[in-house]
Amino acid sequence: MSKEGEALEKAYSNRLLLSARACPFCGGETLGMFPGPPSPIMPGDTLRVVCSQCLCHGPIGESAQRAVAKWNGDFNPTHRKNDIA
Ligand SMILES: [Zn+2]
Repeated sequence: MSKEGEALEKAYSNRLLLSARACPFCGGETLGMFPGPPSPIMPGDTLRVVCSQCLCHGPIGESAQRAVAKWNGDFNPTHRKNDIA
């Protein structure tokens, strides 16, 4: 397998993606974990979830866990309540 193929295989087989929800834009369930751009507020490498179907990508996270949490919405019901009030 080529180096590129190996990287893709790795990106799509990330186990954390099993807890990621389907793409909010196209409903696609084939998601990959890819490196994100450098961030001034996050030291080190960043990661983000990418939908293979429509190629949209989620917010960057400082770890794969954070990238999945942000992709999933990361919402806190308490904040929502406060927004309405
Ligand atoms: Zn999509």
